[in-house]
Amino acid sequence: MTIDSSMRLAVVGGGVVGLSCAWRAAVDGARVTLVDAAPGSGASWVAGGMLAPVTEAWPGEEALLALGVESVGSWPGFAARLAEASGRDPGLRADGTVVAATGSGDRAELETLASYLDGIGRPVQRLSGRELRRLEPAIGPEVRGGLSVPDDLAVDNRLLLAALRVAAEQAGVVFVARNATAVADDGTRVTGVTCDDGTVVDTDAVLVAAGAYTSALHPALDGLVRPVKGEILRLGHRPGAFPAPTRTVRALVDGRPVYAVPRDGGGLVIGATQADVGFDREPTVGGVRDLLRDAERVLPGVAEFALLEVAAGLRPGSPDNLPLIGRIGPTGLLVAGGHHRNGILLAPVTADGIVALLRGDEVSGAVRAADPARVNRKVDA
Ligand SMILES: Cc1cc2nc3c(=O)[nH]c(=O)nc-3n(C[C@H](O)[C@H](O)[C@H](O)COP(=O)(O)OP(=O)(O)OC[C@H]3O[C@@H](n4cnc5c(N)ncnc54)[C@H](O)[C@@H]3O)c2cc1C
Repeated sequence: MTIDSSMRLAVVGGGVVGLSCAWRAAVDGARVTLVDAAPGSGASWVAGGMLAPVTEAWPGEEALLALGVESVGSWPGFAARLAEASGRDPGLRADGTVVAATGSGDRAELETLASYLDGIGRPVQRLSGRELRRLEPAIGPEVRGGLSVPDDLAVDNRLLLAALRVAAEQAGVVFVARNATAVADDGTRVTGVTCDDGTVVDTDAVLVAAGAYTSALHPALDGLVRPVKGEILRLGHRPGAFPAPTRTVRALVDGRPVYAVPRDGGGLVIGATQADVGFDREPTVGGVRDLLRDAERVLPGVAEFALLEVAAGLRPGSPDNLPLIGRIGPTGLLVAGGHHRNGILLAPVTADGIVALLRGDEVSGAVRAADPARVNRKVDA
């Protein structure tokens, strides 16, 4: 079954989540309008691009791990379909991930993660510092041990956004370059999206995918998504500098996490800080200092790289770190938000879930766990 071809769907927000859902829904037959004054300018533009459910795993977040594992498994097919639809390379890298630890506390923390993963049936390979350096000669002598996780992948998020925009346009998505101020409803069902110039996009269904701004668009979403600031750097390789690693390198340095995600052309994306400080998008001196200091302790060669960009973005945080994917509030209102640290990773599984709901099909068990009803119940309680 496909989506009823008479269905008008308005998507609010054109980040990786909104664009992926809009593209897939339009291909499936819906008449899609995407409302966003600046598509691709939010967290999705700033992000590192790791597709890393296993190295992001955390005890107690098994539902997020299951969703992430389902999504990373979908990524190669998603990227291939996107490349075909857009004629552009979406920038998927299949080189895998290593995790490095410096001090003894960091090694103990990685061992805790490895034992947890063993315990839930997702074993990872433990490596000595020397074995890590054999895989990635860019890793420096302060690193004493770590893990290899070949199935945690990465994507160039900016190439991805460009490909999604073209694919969505080719599939017939109409872009409205306005900010939405509210989703309108008649008390029972949604009727449209009101824009900041007073115009209204009439529609049968609305998908709110406005990242950190999702909560402001309908009372049913109030308080469900909050901004979580992250600072990140982009480095370029310079002639004579030591080559960048080919795998994503994640590390713990005296308890602080840092990562380096390779880009074609020898560049690196170094991230990321994390702070609950509201809608502040200004990078700080302290954040940049910490990232550079910690990255250099793991990958000493980065000192010779060019510092090309310093940025901060707002991760859309949810109350329990699992995204909100599903129906909420009046008939016709759906949300795809709260993807926090994993929105790039979770784009394929989110689009699959939204398309299934629009068709009236069952969603997968992992997507069902992300039904916003779970947090609505907790908020009400
Ligand atoms: C520093 C940093 C590093 C990260 N690294 C990774 C990573 O390595 N891997 C990973 O998977 N995830 C990562 N993330 C998280 C990831 O970026 C997010 O989870 C993801 O981008 C969320 O996508 P989104 O489409 O929901 O939101 P966004 O990309 O923020 O897009 C929201 C869109 O909504 C639009 N919008 C907002 N308000 C309105 C409105 N009122 N009307 C219309 N449009 C509106 C905005 O213009 C924007 O285009 C990182 C995030 C940060 C900040």
